[in-house]
Amino acid sequence: MRQPLVAGNWKMNGSLDSVTALIEGIQAGLDTVSTAEMAVCPPFVYIPRVAGLLEGSGISLGAQDVNDQESGAHTGEVAPGMLTDIGCRYVIVGHSERRSIYGESDEFTARKFAAARKAGLVPILCVGETLEEREEGVTEQVVARQLDAVIDLEGIGAIGECVIAYEPVWAIGTGKTATPDQAQEVHAFIRGKLATLDTDVADKVRILYGGSMNPGNAADLLAMADIDGGLIGGASLKPEDFLDIGRAGNA
Ligand code: PEP
Repeated sequence: MRQPLVAGNWKMNGSLDSVTALIEGIQAGLDTVSTAEMAVCPPFVYIPRVAGLLEGSGISLGAQDVNDQESGAHTGEVAPGMLTDIGCRYVIVGHSERRSIYGESDEFTARKFAAARKAGLVPILCVGETLEEREEGVTEQVVARQLDAVIDLEGIGAIGECVIAYEPVWAIGTGKTATPDQAQEVHAFIRGKLATLDTDVADKVRILYGGSMNPGNAADLLAMADIDGGLIGGASLKPEDFLDIGRAGNA
């Protein structure tokens, strides 16, 4: 049985005051979320503040990105060991905004994934197709290529120790959600592909859906056989919406 994971990606939003209010709001309703693991991924600079607020809460902490190097002359970057040092369990790698805005390749993403694991972090590996790719009918090839870059570098066993997030790029921040059937189809493809290499890994890896998930569509998405939670952008900035999505995963 895979425990659902509902992870908030706050992106480049917030202030000391607003992240404090957000965490307090989530904590106030957390006892109504009975099944899902809840996690938040604040901007780097707010992670220490959020870590302090989360102590003993059971909410997991993550970061939104990481460098592939352990230390050194990489101005402006954050090393994986720094994230474990300040209490992170998860780190998002390969988010479509990193891939499209900052030109990060499948190979670079795979190196970040490897570096994160080496430091003891659990990578949340994002994969997903653009609208153009979906219309060309190459969704599965794109997702397979993004996964293969990691499997080639780290091996299939590493996938069993991470979280995958299927995020169709056309659904991120657009208000256009994949239908439960559209999402399930790709999730089943991912699990099936992994099963050709290792059935245990395929059975245990959590595959999250991301892309305009909100309180109105979360229950239907989370009811699908291969959807094990959500990576939530916009709705994770509103405590009640984030909690509603968490509650949609209640068994
Ligand atoms: C995301 O950025 O990972 C995401 C899913 O964003 P949104 O929920 O806002 O579409």
